[in-house]
Amino acid sequence: MDEVLLKQALEFGQPYAQKGKVASYIPELGKVDGQELGICVKTIAGETLHSGFWKQRFTIQSISKVINLVVALEYQGFEAVFRRTKMEPTGSSFNAMSHLSDSEAIPFNPFVNAGAIAIVGLLVPLGLEQMLSAVQGLCSDKYITINEDVFQSEWANCARNRSLVYLLQSKGLITEAVDDTLRLYTQLCSLNVTAESLSNLGRLLANDGIQPETGNRILKEEVVRTTLTMMLTCGMYNGSGEFAVRVGLPSKSGVGGGILSVVPGEMGIGVYGPSLDSKGNSMAGQRVLEYISRTEKLHILDRYAR
Ligand code: GLU
Repeated sequence: MDEVLLKQALEFGQPYAQKGKVASYIPELGKVDGQELGICVKTIAGETLHSGFWKQRFTIQSISKVINLVVALEYQGFEAVFRRTKMEPTGSSFNAMSHLSDSEAIPFNPFVNAGAIAIVGLLVPLGLEQMLSAVQGLCSDKYITINEDVFQSEWANCARNRSLVYLLQSKGLITEAVDDTLRLYTQLCSLNVTAESLSNLGRLLANDGIQPETGNRILKEEVVRTTLTMMLTCGMYNGSGEFAVRVGLPSKSGVGGGILSVVPGEMGIGVYGPSLDSKGNSMAGQRVLEYISRTEKLHILDRYAR
């Protein structure tokens, strides 16, 4: 892989940006330029490749759910996490609540809002300061901070997520205070990252939780395996099945336009393209990843067959 390929991939993906729309249900997100597109790749061997808007800051949104999951697994363990959510893909949208109405039901997975909010409850004792430094460490980016404008914009428009928190509380799936849980969830969605920060996180996951530069283990192997499996099966909302066929890499998208992808054993990839499809995935970003995966034969089943 080289930067010529990344440039070609962006050229291939760019026209698709026009077919999507930037998120507007969080009004502040509606202000970004939907035509921006960028990518950063970091290999375990130490190479950095990039093209387009790779330095542009944007809010992490649902990609924070990956970080919440790894921190909760490290801090509270597998049993505590999966008492609060299942591990099943869902055919429903990311903020659906209909499946929670049965008294026995628990959220489908850690990446739908209901599951992610239940997991953030486990992180409330850590608080924002510790979570922020965890995010900065996992993404090797000390400049990650809260985008106050996006946070305030979502906080003023979070009736649906608030009702999910109450539903979870009524089922005993969160025991932490409603406001503390919802505020921390929303703050963690509002963190400003770049494609490069995401590629750093991807590279750490690609390297089984060991930071390549230092050789230090940051995450347990089984935490990484669980997280990558959830990303592969549930990371792209209700588009996860088709994305797995077309790209075949553990990935997680956010409505800020980011996609985090992992090529296990090789590299992390961060993509930014804020024009979204109807499911909330970056329209052009998915095409960029499809182009790269096809050209370089990165689909995990292609690689397994080799
Ligand atoms: N903060 C967003 C929400 O909860 C995240 C959604 C997303 O990226 O899927 O609605």
